[in-house]
Amino acid sequence: MTYNEKLLDRTKRHPEKQKNPDRPMGKKPDWIKVKAPSPTGIYQETKDIVKSMKLTTVCEEAGCPNIGECWAKSHATFMIMGEICTRACAFCNVATGKPDALDTWEPTRVAKACKEMKLKHVVVTSVDRDDLKDGGAQHFIKTIQEIRRLSPNTTVEILPGDFRGDFDAIDMVTNAKPDVFNHNLETVPALYPTIRPGARYFRSLRLLERVKEVDPTIFTKSGLMVGLGETNEQVAQVMDDMRAANIDFITIGQYLQPTPKHAPVDRFVHPDDFKKLEKMAYAKGFLMVSASPLTRSSHHAGDDFAKLKAAREEKIAKAP
Ligand code: SF4
Repeated sequence: MTYNEKLLDRTKRHPEKQKNPDRPMGKKPDWIKVKAPSPTGIYQETKDIVKSMKLTTVCEEAGCPNIGECWAKSHATFMIMGEICTRACAFCNVATGKPDALDTWEPTRVAKACKEMKLKHVVVTSVDRDDLKDGGAQHFIKTIQEIRRLSPNTTVEILPGDFRGDFDAIDMVTNAKPDVFNHNLETVPALYPTIRPGARYFRSLRLLERVKEVDPTIFTKSGLMVGLGETNEQVAQVMDDMRAANIDFITIGQYLQPTPKHAPVDRFVHPDDFKKLEKMAYAKGFLMVSASPLTRSSHHAGDDFAKLKAAREEKIAKAP
């Protein structure tokens, strides 16, 4: 792609961000470097299945740095309900605009891909669909049901938007019994107006709390990025809020700026400092913590799900 094509692509993907001044993207520290994906073997098989099933992945749409590693292990995160999001978060590389109509066969194709890829665990996320009355709740439910039907050995983790805090939608999706209900808080409350203007911190937190009220057996999970302008004290406060909402699993990763029009990186957190955040989170009572520069919500999600179950069993066994 030439520079002009890239520029055009950027303008089309993020029309609302074009008024932002260009912010230099700077050099990444050594500990962030990842290998470019090699278009061979299982990586290529994953790519072929995604393409032949006409599916969208957040791995590609968000330009995730882990794609080489994940796809080479047959692990992709499916993004349902189209490629266009109705929100415009300052950190996100998913295209913004008016979304297409829902594809009624998409849940079945996601399930068939799970079967073909022999997935033990799948993460299904989506764009935000504020244009739909139920925020896409029924589409998520259909996707969970189709995976259960066609690929019964695959455990299901969903990573939806906030359904605008609609309890009917949240309850319906929870009652479809995903194994993990994941919803990212993304950043600290003070940064919501600039970083996540279409969302509300306490609405997202309440969503996760609600899932546990409806079904305490479902694991809840939430993620934060660091490097957007937050302090470690604010991160600690978010951990406390998450624990008060009974969230089981926290993920913390380094924010990386996708284009010069996105929010700039405020700091690169050293791996040793991620270790300190991990220690702090365990001390606050999370069942599972994943904190490292390249941690993403769905990174190693299958292995982490097995550890999460083991951690709960150990906790129950130790209970008086
Ligand atoms: S970390 Fe998640 S989004 Fe990134 S490549 Fe892996 S599965 Fe895809």
